[in-house]
Amino acid sequence: PSPTLPSPARPGTEAGAALLARLRERLSPRHVLTEDGDVAPHLAEARGLYRGRALAVLRPADTAEVAFAVGACAEAGVPVVAQGGNTGLVGGGVPHGGVVLSLARLSRIRAVDPVGATLTVEAGAVLADVQAAAEAAGLLFPLSLAAEGSCRIGGNLATNAGGTAVLAYGNARDLVLGLEVVLADGRVWNGLKALRKNNAGYDLKHLFVGSEGTLGIITAAVLKLFPRPASRAVGFVGLASPRAALDLFERLRRAAGQGLTAFEVMPRFGLEIVLAHVPGTQRPLAGRHDTYALVEFASPRPGADMAAELESALGEALEAGLAEDATIGASEAQNAALWRLRETLPEAQSREGGSIKHDVSVPLARLPEFLERAAAACRAEMPGLRPCPFGHFGDGNIHFNLSQPPGMDKAAFLASWARFNRIVHDVVHELDGSIAAEHGVGLIKRDELQHYGDPVGLDLMRRLKAALDPHDILNPGKVVALSADPPSAL
Ligand code: FAD
Repeated sequence: PSPTLPSPARPGTEAGAALLARLRERLSPRHVLTEDGDVAPHLAEARGLYRGRALAVLRPADTAEVAFAVGACAEAGVPVVAQGGNTGLVGGGVPHGGVVLSLARLSRIRAVDPVGATLTVEAGAVLADVQAAAEAAGLLFPLSLAAEGSCRIGGNLATNAGGTAVLAYGNARDLVLGLEVVLADGRVWNGLKALRKNNAGYDLKHLFVGSEGTLGIITAAVLKLFPRPASRAVGFVGLASPRAALDLFERLRRAAGQGLTAFEVMPRFGLEIVLAHVPGTQRPLAGRHDTYALVEFASPRPGADMAAELESALGEALEAGLAEDATIGASEAQNAALWRLRETLPEAQSREGGSIKHDVSVPLARLPEFLERAAAACRAEMPGLRPCPFGHFGDGNIHFNLSQPPGMDKAAFLASWARFNRIVHDVVHELDGSIAAEHGVGLIKRDELQHYGDPVGLDLMRRLKAALDPHDILNPGKVVALSADPPSAL
């Protein structure tokens, strides 16, 4: 499909001025930002890889204002780029013209239902506030990621965020029962059902989850809540290799079943740079090991003693020679300190100079093979390169990051990003994995998706986009490009 694009209103043109006047009248002038200083934070993304431009930043107060704004922009042919916390890592929220639509003011918790174990929330609520609202009702909203203090639930759903609790609770997609969405023409789809069973036709909410603002603007959601863990234990394990990590994972899963709630892995290099760069961190084990696993056992069962269960499971793994050394947090403060070693790794890596990142997944059984092959191929390409693969291992997801050789010019290193994409993604593809595991496609992986994606699948994606957004108003050029001249990737 090749839709005709209306020529967009531009700043300074009559059409641009008329659109801004309409928006100011409805949203109030205070919430239509056009001053450089107000707009600038919305033009850049977390990693500083892209810088965009925008006619204005809109800050609607509720769903009706979002619908009005999208409808007015659609009539004027002006693209709309939704933003939550702007913590996304694939350039998906960067505008290339048009307006930024910030959901930040739609931040209300609309309802908590402790009997149905659901929470109805507006898209702009910060993830940490959603977790806190669930906790206040004695329940758990398990989605958890290092950006939870600033990312917003609409952004989490729009990117189908993963994070550290996927092993036990699934991705954001698995945590949503209903959605309210503003469509590209300004209509509102009310799919805010709080039902565990609902097979009344196509499950439309799943179209919008993970669509990165290209099919609709999520304005509210009904989320699933869970019993809170009554007992939790965190362990840090030294291992001889990623293969040993996989063996340990299988053993712990057999021992704890659903009680194994996290299995994160980092290499020796990763731990060393955390200890070198992050103040207050301490070496958790006396010796040095090739690979480390952070494991968590948790249970909602009253009276459960997960520390005892973890100790027994790790003791057996040590005896069997599967693990080289292990420690278990003796208090919640120690548990948090162990988690901090994993959560601050991206920050430590940024202090080590340039970093080329690949957020990939492969079938779990093939993860060690992937790590061995991809690291060997990258080292062969650039001597001195320091692979730093870390992440959610237990769900098959690895952040296959490459730190620049010491002393190399950062810009020169980053210029080789496309070369390493080909090397790493070829291995992922051969192992039947995914080049976009949890962060999404956005702009940074759009051309890679085009390269590796199934042609029929890509055709279906474009047809869906054209059906829901025929004039390419919503986040154009991201994920799958409809227009002939989309913004170019890196
Ligand atoms: P934004 O960055 O504002 O937007 C992301 C995308 O969603 C954009 O394409 C945007 O247009 C679209 N969008 C935003 N809101 C809406 C809406 N209401 N309706 C429609 N489209 C919308 N991700 C993981 O999956 N797992 C992790 O463990 C993880 N860890 C992270 C750690 C750090 C330190 C950082 C900075 C990021 C991390 N991320 C992780 C990236 C993750 O995708 C985001 O943090 C989060 O899910 C995005 O939420 P946001 O509100 O910031 O969205």
